[in-house]
Amino acid sequence: MKDIHCRLLVIGAGPGGYVCAIRAGQLGIDTVVVEAKKLGGTCLNVGCIPSKALIHAADSFANIARIAAGESPLGISAARPQLDFSRTILWKDGIVGRLNNGVAGLLKKAGVKVVAGRARFQDGKTVAVDTEVGEQIIRAEQVVIATGSIATELPFLPFGGTVISSTGALSLNEVPGRLVVVGAGYIGLELGTAFAKMGAAVTVVEAESRILPQYDAELSRPVARRLRELGITVITGAKAKGLAPSGNELAIDTADGQGVTLPADRILVAVGREPSTHGLGLSAIDLDMDGKFLRIDDKCRTSMRGVYAIGDVTGEPMLAHRATAQGEMVAEIVAGKNRAWDKRCIPAVCFTDPEIVTAGLSPDGAEAAGVPVVIGLFPFQANGRAMTLENETGFIRVVARADNHLLLGIQGVGEGIAELSATFSLALEMGARLEDIAATIHAHPTQSESLLESVHMALGNPLHI
Ligand code: FAD
Ligand code: NAD
Repeated sequence: MKDIHCRLLVIGAGPGGYVCAIRAGQLGIDTVVVEAKKLGGTCLNVGCIPSKALIHAADSFANIARIAAGESPLGISAARPQLDFSRTILWKDGIVGRLNNGVAGLLKKAGVKVVAGRARFQDGKTVAVDTEVGEQIIRAEQVVIATGSIATELPFLPFGGTVISSTGALSLNEVPGRLVVVGAGYIGLELGTAFAKMGAAVTVVEAESRILPQYDAELSRPVARRLRELGITVITGAKAKGLAPSGNELAIDTADGQGVTLPADRILVAVGREPSTHGLGLSAIDLDMDGKFLRIDDKCRTSMRGVYAIGDVTGEPMLAHRATAQGEMVAEIVAGKNRAWDKRCIPAVCFTDPEIVTAGLSPDGAEAAGVPVVIGLFPFQANGRAMTLENETGFIRVVARADNHLLLGIQGVGEGIAELSATFSLALEMGARLEDIAATIHAHPTQSESLLESVHMALGNPLHI
């Protein structure tokens, strides 16, 4: 097979790699992207998109079930809903398929060549790709490593049979009767909640003393309350030990040191993700590492000239939009533009019930940084639109410098507030002060008015509370 020569080679076509390749192609750079599995990476195939599809299906089912059970005050009645889970999965797969084709089309439109296979470094400018028709050598002037991450496997609870990762959970044939989830982080709670709403009896085992330890307790408390309402059992401070000999029980040690077994049809292990570098031939180029992740600077340069790294393979926060923003930036740097990572915040959304949105510094983060702040918090209980949507749980909270009122962080928890995440990050990115938000007309009736009200609270002149 003839060697391929190009100016830019991107390894991995997740939201980091494929966006980098598209932008590079648009900028006239002769670009090749290599993908071992499917275009779109974890996010599109086994991550963000399929999980949010299942969450939506579960929400729809649970809403009708609540109405059928006579628990809705809206005066609507309905028959008990049925769930044909195989059709739910087909619908989810259809969305993934449409997006896969979309990415292929966008790469083609940008003039990017796609090579299917696993890439392995031979040196800093050469990779060998195991393709279906043999080994393909690609020689590039510059290389972007965008190989993403894989689910962390617990050595005493390896994936297989009853024990599944998020990928397995997103392609089950049926809703498990009893689902035990190890890890009360993003994946454990997003998927655990969805399966509980679809009828599974869910138990969540978390090693730390509370759920979602990455968020402050004020934000995670409404989620913990909702888990209880949904009948989900949460066992915190507990350590999973392994499968009991029966094969369908998880053995754990509880916080007080008691050995307990939890019966399970499926055990979803969601204890974090690690960089996908296995088989990439990194030993051939000996890059500086940051723990298990690739070390990068503010231009996503690794320790080797001409080799960049973006996305999950470079560490936290492992979020699709961070990978995408890095990919776009690197393409522009390769094209000769003067770009560097200058973001004020990377918003994060946890699609639990209710959803959590964070952007910038939390009150605890500001305290740790030694910055005196003013804080404003407005509950959805006092927001008219939230009442009309039955979304009264949660609040919006703003954190601003005490001296000049520059916004440092905005957080919120509430149903449907994922869509406010861009408003939060826009305010931070544009350097807004409390007075800027206070001077902005917020349309009525919307849940976004709670942002305006939280700012009024921080300024000491609330209107609606
Ligand atoms: P990836 O998407 O992992 O893509 C890397 C690609 O590289 C893969 O396609 C892989 O096959 C390929 N590859 C690896 N090695 C090689 C090689 N040697 N040769 C060729 N190709 C290779 N993030 C959010 O922001 N929002 C969410 O709602 C969200 N939900 C998630 C839900 C789940 C269940 C999971 C698992 C993750 C979720 N994430 C979410 C995280 C998000 O999926 C990742 O942050 C994002 O996909 C990272 O993008 P990436 O481009 O760095 O890597
Ligand atoms: P996570 O880091 O969010 O949560 C892992 C949880 O497992 C933590 O609470 C941790 O304390 C716990 N844990 C670790 N070891 C344990 C053990 N042995 N026993 C019990 N609990 C244990 O990780 P995740 O849920 O696997 O998600 C991985 C990454 O994927 C996230 O960090 C995030 O970057 C990304 N993701 C993002 C979204 C989103 O943006 N909405 C959704 C899903 C995943």
